[in-house]
Amino acid sequence: MFHCRLVNAAHHDPALLLSPPQSAQRWLLDCGDLHPLSLHELLQIDTVFVSHAHIDHWIGLDALMRAQLFGERPLRILGPQGILDMLAGRLAGYAWNLVSRSQFVVEGYEWTGEEWRSRHFPCRHRFVGQPAVSGLPELDGWGLGWVELRHGVPCLGFRLESAVSYRFREECPLTPGPWISQLKDRVARGAEGQLEVEGQLREVSELSQWLRPLPSHQLAYITDTRLDPATRQQIVQAFGPTRILWCEAAFLESQRELAESKLHSTALEAASLALELGCERLYLFHLSRRTQGLADEHLREARSIFPETYLGSEANQGVDKSR
Ligand SMILES: [Zn+2]
Repeated sequence: MFHCRLVNAAHHDPALLLSPPQSAQRWLLDCGDLHPLSLHELLQIDTVFVSHAHIDHWIGLDALMRAQLFGERPLRILGPQGILDMLAGRLAGYAWNLVSRSQFVVEGYEWTGEEWRSRHFPCRHRFVGQPAVSGLPELDGWGLGWVELRHGVPCLGFRLESAVSYRFREECPLTPGPWISQLKDRVARGAEGQLEVEGQLREVSELSQWLRPLPSHQLAYITDTRLDPATRQQIVQAFGPTRILWCEAAFLESQRELAESKLHSTALEAASLALELGCERLYLFHLSRRTQGLADEHLREARSIFPETYLGSEANQGVDKSR
């Protein structure tokens, strides 16, 4: 089960806590106010995907740093162009003379528009940044997609997809054994060859008929953007079909002019994107405070074209019920 928890209410700062299945990693999509999280939950977070650096998406970094300051695991922060300098600025805002024994490191990753650039900020060096090998951090085999959004500042949408996994078909007449996990591993890697089953060598290509591929977990996170048709098209091209969409719905269609001037989206536009991505389910979040008390209106508007729409706060028991 893919557990998702929207940390705050729909009208408050964005922060979505993800627990990917069969993984000890904990991911945070955006880093708004994190006060509702326990110390234990803050300690578990190892990766933060930051859409952009507006204060309501980024103010929670201090709470996270405070909790993890003596941790041994790095805290990885991915974001759009400029995030490395902003991270350096945040870390330079405190005195660090009494924490030089901590092994804690903040690893920053910035999408420059052409590549992912990395800088490490070790606590023992008072968080002074050092260039690191570029590339993306390891996400337990999950694939990361991203797309540049339209918000007046560098802003990214993200897509996460689990590695392919398989279920063994119980009708297989062969005696189960360690060969099944070896077979799953070989097939996932596209490797061929032979495996020993019941004392006999058999081809992987022949054995693979007893594996059934499971649908992967796919989640897209889109916030703080105009969702005009051109931007939606860019997202669809970058992401392809996606099962679950978390999307901002700051405004209602009756407030379209406001959405355009503030570079945000309406509930109907979020639902249009869900349709265009072929989603199974849409979660709305980051509703404008101007529409406080009108969450049902947002839902009604989105459901008029995409019935499987829910408020983000309704997902806190786990979103992907198909597995
Ligand atoms: Zn913003």
